[in-house]
Amino acid sequence: MKTRLLAAVAIFALATGMFAQQNGDSRKLAHDIFKQLIETNTTESAGNMTTAANEVAARLRGAGFAASDVVVLGPDARHGNIVARIRGTGANKPVLFLAHLDVVEANRSDWSVDPFKLTEKDGFFYGRGTSDIKDGDAILVADFIRLKQEGYKPDRDLILALTSDEEGGDYNGVTWLLEKHRDLINAEYCINTDGGDFQLKDGKPLLASIETSEKIYADFELKVFNNGGHSSLPRPDNAIYSLANGLIRLAKYEFPVELNETTRAFFGRMAEINRKSGDAKLAAEMAGAAKNPPDASAIRELSESPYYNALLRTTCVATRLNAGHANNALPQDANAIVNCRIIPGGTQAATQKTLEQVLNDSEIKVTPLAPPHDSPASPLRKDVLDEMELVVAKMWPGVPVVPVMDAGATDGYRLRAAGIPTYAISGVLIDMDDVRAHGRDERILESSFYQGVDFFYRYIRALSSTN
Ligand SMILES: [Zn+2]
Repeated sequence: MKTRLLAAVAIFALATGMFAQQNGDSRKLAHDIFKQLIETNTTESAGNMTTAANEVAARLRGAGFAASDVVVLGPDARHGNIVARIRGTGANKPVLFLAHLDVVEANRSDWSVDPFKLTEKDGFFYGRGTSDIKDGDAILVADFIRLKQEGYKPDRDLILALTSDEEGGDYNGVTWLLEKHRDLINAEYCINTDGGDFQLKDGKPLLASIETSEKIYADFELKVFNNGGHSSLPRPDNAIYSLANGLIRLAKYEFPVELNETTRAFFGRMAEINRKSGDAKLAAEMAGAAKNPPDASAIRELSESPYYNALLRTTCVATRLNAGHANNALPQDANAIVNCRIIPGGTQAATQKTLEQVLNDSEIKVTPLAPPHDSPASPLRKDVLDEMELVVAKMWPGVPVVPVMDAGATDGYRLRAAGIPTYAISGVLIDMDDVRAHGRDERILESSFYQGVDFFYRYIRALSSTN
């Protein structure tokens, strides 16, 4: 009995030793890819995304990917995207894993370190893109290579797409691939590392979020014309007064509350987190909001917070104003910009109608500034959520998974609009009181990065070995 137990322990130790060894190798690999990508400038001004795509392609081919399963392609020489594929048994439809290669501009003089060198200091990796989102690029590439080298046979194709121009620019890689090479990235659903934060609070993991939807961005121009005239002879009709009165009606208007399965789950789970942390009042309000229909007094209380208010309803707010042409003339025109963030499921066209009703003045012409970005929420898929909860429970016991709707935007909306449900899951713990994406001295905890490598290795497997 004893010897058998010892033997079992020895085998277990051997097995875990091998796992740790492989783990160590994939961490080293992830580090090297991360360093290479951070040190490859992919800004719109001076960088080249194709260079980064080619570096990743060379690594994948070197690791045994067939040349035909790794393609670099794009609309021009600087805006390349890379798409790679691990072939599965075909029992299920493919899953797409997404991150972007481009980064926001960074001036050396603003930073304490070189933004285009990977600096390791005080337990952090510093550099432009360390948290947005070259960490995600490196994690996915390292895990795809590890899975390939292990001879892993998934029950579905696993697609990796690292794309250009998420942060801006005219060549968004996701849109370009959807238009020109949809077959390459077509999938049952997409996991996007560029969102869905895993949050640290006072150094401890607080929650792991899965972002199923984003509010829809829409700008409208409001314009009033008037014949104008001499300001010594004012008349009741006045472009500035018409516009101002309309804007005051808008300021007083509140869009109706629109909860969906994600925001309801968000408030339900956040209620639990707040209850445990001792904020009984907020916990009760959130539990009230999670009810269907929601509790009216809870909604009133939560609406006082700009953040919760933004999760509860569509918002439209005046952001710019311009009128008149001379101090001594009646204004011939007055215009304003109103920025709307629409709850998914709503549309730019319907929001325009609401604006016109609220402004309630046919003299105020409302025009959208861009074609609509309408995009639905992704259904809260049970498989995607359940497998995530299992992996999170193994890696960070007791840390809740929280579905979220983002008030900002990622490439996810483009895929959702094209019929590919998209879930943003970062796998990387960051301190929400120290978010530096797009800012100076961007950084990520070294431990968070390596945990991200482990998280995605397990999660990719979990999503593709259900049969
Ligand atoms: Zn990003």
